[in-house]
Formats: sequence, C-alpha cells, structure tokens
Amino acid sequence: MAVRTIDDVEVQGRRVLVRVDYNVPRDDQGAITDDTRIRATLPTIKALLGRGAAVILMSHLGRPKGAPNPRYSLAPVARRLGELLGRPVPLAPDCVGPEVEAQAKPLAPGQVLLLENLRFHAEEEANDPTFARGLADLGDMYVNDAFGSAHRAHASTVGVTAYLPAVAGYLMQAELDALHRVLDAPGHPCAAVIGGAKVSTKLGVLRNLIGRMDRVFIGGGMANTFLYAQGHDLGRSLLEADLAGEARSVLDEAARRRVEILLPIDLIVAEAVDANAQRKSVEIDAVPADWMAVDIGPRTCQLFAGTLAGCKTVVWNGPMGVFEVAPFAAGTKAVAQAIADSGAVSVVGGGDSVAAVEELGLADKMTHVSTGGGATLEFLEGKTLPGVAALGQK
Ligand code: ADP
Ligand code: MG
Repeated sequence: MAVRTIDDVEVQGRRVLVRVDYNVPRDDQGAITDDTRIRATLPTIKALLGRGAAVILMSHLGRPKGAPNPRYSLAPVARRLGELLGRPVPLAPDCVGPEVEAQAKPLAPGQVLLLENLRFHAEEEANDPTFARGLADLGDMYVNDAFGSAHRAHASTVGVTAYLPAVAGYLMQAELDALHRVLDAPGHPCAAVIGGAKVSTKLGVLRNLIGRMDRVFIGGGMANTFLYAQGHDLGRSLLEADLAGEARSVLDEAARRRVEILLPIDLIVAEAVDANAQRKSVEIDAVPADWMAVDIGPRTCQLFAGTLAGCKTVVWNGPMGVFEVAPFAAGTKAVAQAIADSGAVSVVGGGDSVAAVEELGLADKMTHVSTGGGATLEFLEGKTLPGVAALGQK
C-alpha cells in the first residue's frame, strides 16, 4: 500500500499545485533562522520543473488566524527560495481569487509561483470546499510534499484532492518510506527510544511501539512517572502522578508481549533546572527530597548505549533529559551517539529530538531525520494521516 508519487504521473505541460511546509522559524524581525524546510522541497520542485511542469507552491506560515497579516507574509520565503533555485520566485498577492488566477493560468513550463499564506483565510483550516475548489482551479494536478502538515485535514492537504489528481512529492515519499520501514518491516532486534517531558503526550506512541518493537528504552521526564509507578520517590522531579496506573499498565502489556523495557537505573539530579545549580548522579531510589531528576545517569547511559549497539532498527522520539541546559545533555548525547555508532536503520522524529541530534552534529549519521513534529508523532501512534490517506494509491 504505497502512495503514488510524481514519478507515476505525466507532468509535462501541466500546472502542478504543490503543497509544501514553509512554516519556517523566524526571528523577531521576521528573518528566516533555519531554511531546512525550504531546502527539503527542492528535489520535488526541481524534478517538476525539469520535466516541463509549471509549479505553483502553497504553504501556511505561523498562525495569522484567518486574516491577512504582513507579519506572516511568505515574502521572505519567496526570496530565500529564489536564492536556492537561482532565479526569482514571484509571490502572488493571495492564494485564491481572480488576481491569483490571472497570475497562475499563463505560467509556462519551467516557471514557479508561490501563493501567499494559506492561513490568511479561515477556510483553509476549516477545510472549506469552496476555498479548496478555488485552490484546485489554479492547477491541473496536485502534489503534497508537506509531510509536516499531513496530520491536518485542511483545504490544502485534503479538500483540494476532491478536485485534482493527487500524488506525493519526494519529501513526503521519503518520510513515509522511512517511517513504514522502521515500524512495519524492521530488522530485529528493533528498538524504540522514547523520552521527552511527559507521559501524557506520548501514551499513544508508547502503546503503538510496544506492539511493534522488541525493546523499548524509556528516559527523560517521562521515565520519572514510570519510576514513581514502581514505588520510587522522585523528589521534586517533573512527573505525572495521576498517570502511574497508566504507566503500570504499559509495563504489564510489555511483559505480556515479551517486550523488553529499559528504564533508567541511575539519574542526574539537580537542585533546580539551571546550569549553575548543584548536581550529582544518584541511584533511582536515592533522589533527595527537594532535588529533581534532569537526565539519565552515567550507568544508564552505558546500559542504553550497550544495548542499542546490538539493535538493527531504532526509532527515537524524545530527549533523555533537559538537553537544552548543557550540563543535563549527556544522556541525550550518549543515546544519539550510540544510535549513530550502531549502524542500525535509524529514524529520529519530534521537534526537540531533531533539534538535539542537529545540535550534536549527528543528523547525518541517522538513516532519516523526520521533518514532521506532530505529524511524525501521530504516525508513530499508528494513526492514518488524513493528508496521506487523501493521496492516490499505487
Ligand atoms: P519531542 O519534541 O522530541 O517530541 P518532547 O517535546 O516530548 O520531545 O520533550 C522535550 C522536552 O522534554 C525538552 O524540552 C526537555 O527539556 C524535556 N525533558 C526531558 N527530560 C526531562 C526531565 N527529566 N525533566 C523535565 N523536562 C525534561
Ligand atoms: Mg517537543
């Protein structure tokens, strides 16, 4: 069950409407601070242009709440994309309407146009059919290359597919291939490393991965809840006491399925989440009452790294500690390095996890670093993404 891609369709002489995710991070002045998402769409755009299509790009940026707002204009993106493509990319004044149509209709093969922010219209997020039709009217076919938006059923990700043939771009294809590969056809032993702040945001991910993996490593703030559920006193650590029962049921299910769960055996504790706070490593049953666990400890790093070394497939979501604070980044670093060194097929997903591997300079060592935050998490939960379900199947 694979989606059709731009390689499965004739694009010569067509106007191809491409949904991309140009929701790039910007500084206070609106300047783009990271153009990864723009670069990630270049293979699809170049392939379409090279094969004689005209390309009409559309994206959202930020949360303009359904009204035009110059702060959320895609103008800086048009400039940056123009630099990357080596030719100017015109920006339409809007994403639908007669003026935009007049700009889109005469596009010749090899020409590019970027539409203005889709979310200047509330109809985008409402998946309004008339608005979707207005978008569809601009092109002859539709390509979705916005994996990061595929978990949303919006006009530009789902609605538009009612009116145009719809296929995946290369970025969408790469994301789906990598995630399917680790979840549905993993080499064994296969492992998931799950961390991050809270159990509550990752329960779906935990449950789905326990059904699929041979080993599950749990670290980060979420491990605190598991240790607490096992009767340990975690002092002032971040934990969700009300989810102790849920944590125990996850452990029971893992035992039933003979999935090996690895929890921290020691912790880095600190008096505060602060680089200058007092800190030390302790056993899991020796957290001082007014201290908090901020990272996995050195023996846990060794245990996790040693066990990861024998894995053939690793999917990782969620840092092992408060990695943003340098003295508490060692656990996340050890796990990232172990995955990089393991030679396993590896996929990293989640906004903070991806930021961590990039900061560590290890992104190139992973098989795939997912560009989707929420979309990747929903995929790891085993959910069908509406933007993917709307694409044609092979
Ligand atoms: P992702 O974005 O990769 O899905 P999350 O958003 O779930 O990851 O979690 C990342 C956050 O978890 C980071 O901000 C990190 O500081 C926090 N975190 C990790 N370990 C702890 C801990 N022991 N105590 C408090 N916060 C933690
Ligand atoms: Mg996050």
